[in-house]
Amino acid sequence: MPTNIEWTDLTDNIIRAKDGGWWCQKISPGCAKCYSEKLNQNTFFGGNKQPYTGQPPELILDTEAIRKWGFQTKPKKHFVASMTDVFGEWVPRHWQREMLDGMFAAPKQTFQILTKRPEIMLSSINEWLDSHGLDKLPNNIWTGVSTENRHTLEQRSPILAQIPADIRFWSVEPLLEDLGNISQFLKHTQWLIVGGESGPNSRPCHLEWLQSIVDQCQSADVSVFVKQLGANAYLNEQQFQKSDKKGCDIAKFPTPLQVREFPNSVVS
Ligand code: SF4
Repeated sequence: MPTNIEWTDLTDNIIRAKDGGWWCQKISPGCAKCYSEKLNQNTFFGGNKQPYTGQPPELILDTEAIRKWGFQTKPKKHFVASMTDVFGEWVPRHWQREMLDGMFAAPKQTFQILTKRPEIMLSSINEWLDSHGLDKLPNNIWTGVSTENRHTLEQRSPILAQIPADIRFWSVEPLLEDLGNISQFLKHTQWLIVGGESGPNSRPCHLEWLQSIVDQCQSADVSVFVKQLGANAYLNEQQFQKSDKKGCDIAKFPTPLQVREFPNSVVS
């Protein structure tokens, strides 16, 4: 379905709870104020009120939505499974295979898949490649990790680097601390999305942290996309005044942060 997420065109939630809503399992500090869990608490938005902890409800894979990808003629970017982690431990391996098969059969479409569990993504993708006699993912499948601090970056990005894909990316949102020097991790990365946290009681994001990431991406020739400043942004230790709640109006970003690039050779 259409979305206001700035770096994609559509969200395709192919995994849902059988009786409505979605489910995921929180795994790291970036999940603390999970937007998807918040939506799931609201029956008005189709949620089932179950928290993203404990045991999953009965889940289904929307095979019909996957089948339709192959018939779509207008090229679009699809953020797949935005409400969960498609490489969660609870997701059957054959569902991941069916998803990848559907992407393979739809070369005009671009698929963006993000996980906080890159070890499962790596082994699942390698299994799928072996079963198709391929040594690399087709270039319409972009693989990414979500990361929020130095610790998760160090854990997840070296595993992402092992995935044989043309486009490997990070979504660094919510950015919870200064990541420091990330140049060694950028070597195997083609794209980086970054943003501060949004929503009530958001954790602070210092614009200097964002600037450091943008500068390092530019030096390493890695495309960078500043999604939002977040609801609790600081500049020079002072609260930064934004025009909207999430701080996503690019015209109001400090000029050096007005950067929204896509991976090289990809048309936005
Ligand atoms: S992995 Fe993503 S969707 Fe799942 S709980 Fe964490 S933030 Fe939410």
